[in-house]
Amino acid sequence: MAVDLQSTSAFSTAQRRFDVAADILGLTENTRRLLRDVKRELTVHFPVQHDDGSVHLYTGYRVQHNINRGPAKGGIRYSADVSLDLVKAMAMLMTWKCAVVGIPYGGAKGGVIVEPDALSRRELEHLTRRYATEIALLIGPEKDIPAPDLGTTPQIMAWIMDTVSMHAGHSVTASVTGKPTDVGGSEGRQEAAGRGVTYLTLEALKYLHVGEDTPTVAVQGFGKVGASTARLLHEAGLRVVAVSDSRGAVHNPKGLDLAALEEHRKFRGGVSGFKKADDISGAALLELPVTVLVPAAAEQQITELNADRVRARLITEAANAAISPEADEILHEQGVFLVPDILANSGGVVVSYFEWVQDLQAFFWEEEEINTKLHHVITRAFYEVLHASVNKRIDMRRAAYVLAVQRVANATTVRGIYP
Ligand code: NAD
Repeated sequence: MAVDLQSTSAFSTAQRRFDVAADILGLTENTRRLLRDVKRELTVHFPVQHDDGSVHLYTGYRVQHNINRGPAKGGIRYSADVSLDLVKAMAMLMTWKCAVVGIPYGGAKGGVIVEPDALSRRELEHLTRRYATEIALLIGPEKDIPAPDLGTTPQIMAWIMDTVSMHAGHSVTASVTGKPTDVGGSEGRQEAAGRGVTYLTLEALKYLHVGEDTPTVAVQGFGKVGASTARLLHEAGLRVVAVSDSRGAVHNPKGLDLAALEEHRKFRGGVSGFKKADDISGAALLELPVTVLVPAAAEQQITELNADRVRARLITEAANAAISPEADEILHEQGVFLVPDILANSGGVVVSYFEWVQDLQAFFWEEEEINTKLHHVITRAFYEVLHASVNKRIDMRRAAYVLAVQRVANATTVRGIYP
């Protein structure tokens, strides 16, 4: 059977989601044309000398979707699955994400086609510094501010900041976010995305009046976002019964000992084989009868192939594009309440915004102040989306898009067309 690549591309999926919001809003053709495509896309091919002396050519991207509300903002992904199409889709999502939480940024994304675990630390540093140099014409504190994403770390952000600074001849700490605190990083940034997922999950449970003593949780992905979400939800009194990573999943209906699981993962390199739980498949985790399901791994994990087997009452979509448009419809019909990705994982970019503001002012805040501000921004956004959903009788995804697209469309219209 022929595969319709157009309909399966990540960017065309992102455009479909935009089209739905544009229809609801009744946007003019002119405005649609401007918002439906990306503003800038840069592809770079660059050499890195490996430790054995061999030279390898890598491909990377930096895409800016829209910068009408402020400088571009978005993560950098290191993965073998990176493609221009995916980076364009993620850049568009960033535009809507910044708009839905009301922070003054446009959307961008970057990535390199690389399996970071296969490189030595020295190779990873050289790859990062060269990639940062190749995209230097786009990035900078007033123009486009990268951050971590899948496969990238605070150390990688420090190397990017240092590279930008070497070119400038002085320290440009505001050039990236998600840095270590030693070099202008913000308190609370490392777990900000997970903290945002947690605040939103708790708010959604409150709204749903879930009638259970202790709501249960399954988390797909035990990385930066998934692991902190699991820990924070546990601290908030929920029972985390299952987590997974790319190698497998573990399940204990009585609740997982997350501290012991973290130790096990450090030692074994994955969650599988944890003595105090049963090994299950990654696919089975998505179908557990839990109150809350948190996909915090990769794209397209819940599709028309498995959506009807999801038994969670609430999904907080921590990973970008974890749910396909077809699955959205199925889940909605099943009565599953969704906190969609552009809202669910916005905690990361909100605290990145706080980090950038602190760097620009050279004045740093306590973690408590950051968490309080994050809670304020994200809770306000949740109720704005919820009200739009209720008032317009549309699902939470459509409501989030409608709010976000409206804000970007307003900025685009009021600025006008140059020249
Ligand atoms: P990460 O690399 O730290 O962790 C990813 C985790 O997912 C790892 O544990 C990996 O083993 C696991 N994984 C990968 N494929 C899997 C699969 N098929 N099944 C189960 N587990 C799988 O990445 P991260 O930063 O935690 O990002 C996760 C998601 O959250 C991505 O979609 C990313 O774009 C999004 N996100 C991250 C941030 C952030 O600040 N880090 C902010 C917003 C959104």
